[in-house]
Amino acid sequence: MECTLSSLSGFCKGVKASLDALDEAIARYGASSLFVYGGIVHNDNVVSSYLEKGVGMVNCAEEVPAGSVVVIRAHGCKKSEMEELRKKCTVIDTTCPLVMMNIKDAADSSSDVLLIGEKGHDEVSSIASYKEGGVALASNYDELLSLAGKKDYTVIVQTTFSEKKWKAIQPLLNSRFPQPRRGICQASAKRRKEIRDLAPSYDTLVVVGDGKSANSRALYEEGLILGKNSVFVSDASELDGKVLADRVFVTSGTSTPRAVVEEVVKVIEGL
Ligand code: SF4
Repeated sequence: MECTLSSLSGFCKGVKASLDALDEAIARYGASSLFVYGGIVHNDNVVSSYLEKGVGMVNCAEEVPAGSVVVIRAHGCKKSEMEELRKKCTVIDTTCPLVMMNIKDAADSSSDVLLIGEKGHDEVSSIASYKEGGVALASNYDELLSLAGKKDYTVIVQTTFSEKKWKAIQPLLNSRFPQPRRGICQASAKRRKEIRDLAPSYDTLVVVGDGKSANSRALYEEGLILGKNSVFVSDASELDGKVLADRVFVTSGTSTPRAVVEEVVKVIEGL
């Protein structure tokens, strides 16, 4: 089977920086003295590899023993949690600089904040917690429409918000709201553009990612929008040769290790 691997696949800069910082912390403090807050990135394969090394994983500040070293994931954590952690631990904050800009915009805004993002996403919860009094959250067209004309908002967009949903709300956003200072992260946007640009040269799109990763799911959606036969797998073991047709293009979310993607390509080429 003919298979082309995206030149963009593998970790984005933000994820790579987080993992490099975690590796440095392991070398300095030892894996068994470290805790990661909430899964370092949205990829179970990556998280498991660190758990196997002996790194602990916690979901809230309360679970971290006082005096520990805790590494904050790429998507940040809530303000109250960060404050509690800083009081009792050594904190290594690997929040992606782009997420940090959104957090800063929310914290510094003198007006009400309208946050466009997915309810419950780690980044969205982190940003919302830094705005005193909370934010107005819109995840889709109807929610955005219900907020139109109500306030003079500062508009902030989740870095990995779904391109499909973004396109659906953009005309309304442009006509009824102030412009956001920045949009969807380019690391994720470029991968979607590549899928669109190369669409005539393949029949099947294979996206390698974790179901929890918003940007991985967005790549898969892009294939569906284009009407391509699209497949989503977390690794090579989930491939089903029967659904792959002719020329295959393989790409990945920003938190998928390149080695996992290369293994997928190897298996497809052998079919
Ligand atoms: S996808 Fe973008 S925002 Fe998210 S970690 Fe990577 S560089 Fe940062």
